[in-house]
Amino acid sequence: MGTPRDSTQAQAEVVVDRLEDEYPDSTISLRYSNRLELLIAVILSAQCTDERVNKETKHLFEKYDGPEDYANADQDELAEDLNSITYYNSKAGYIKSSCKTILEDHDGEVPDTMDELTELSGVGRKTANVVLQHGHDIVEGIVVDTHVQRLSRRLGLTEEEYPERIEEDLMGIVPEESWQEFTHLCIDHGRAVCTAQNPDCGDCVLADVCPSEKGDGEIDLASGDPW
Ligand code: SF4
Repeated sequence: MGTPRDSTQAQAEVVVDRLEDEYPDSTISLRYSNRLELLIAVILSAQCTDERVNKETKHLFEKYDGPEDYANADQDELAEDLNSITYYNSKAGYIKSSCKTILEDHDGEVPDTMDELTELSGVGRKTANVVLQHGHDIVEGIVVDTHVQRLSRRLGLTEEEYPERIEEDLMGIVPEESWQEFTHLCIDHGRAVCTAQNPDCGDCVLADVCPSEKGDGEIDLASGDPW
């Protein structure tokens, strides 16, 4: 078990510093070439890997071009075009409906406010944060996905369980200029080292400050269960 810094703020700073050194090119791994493609890729990425989404959007973005194409698409055909993605039927419905709203209420443009984005079908705060950050250069929150959720708890940055509460805690301790980067650093570290099932604490740059470190640690703070 490592020894965390005295305050959660200092702990957040050391986490960001060390992970920045470890993953200097950390950024979003979804592929897109405009805001609508970004929105669609993020909707598709819920409960699905970015790798699978990138594979599917490669042909999707060639076939459908702009909100009209999705809004006017036959929903069964659109779903079939997404059939390797988890929950593809529901997601086809979200995409079609969101594009209809974008055409009817936003002149065909992906909106740039949290309120307007979260009114779109299938778009919650997490998706909206990603679209604001990467589509509009507006950073007003921290994207909390499964990796951020797990690592933040393991590293003692929050004791909250639900993403919106975790985001509130993180916004109080992660330096604002690092809000966007923090997510990608956690995702990179969560994929490479601090995996859900069997984290490689022996090869982790945060081991000495991590209260969940497995050496002689007894508890995985992400789940609250013994290792
Ligand atoms: S890999 Fe281990 S030491 Fe590193 S952050 Fe995860 S739980 Fe902590």
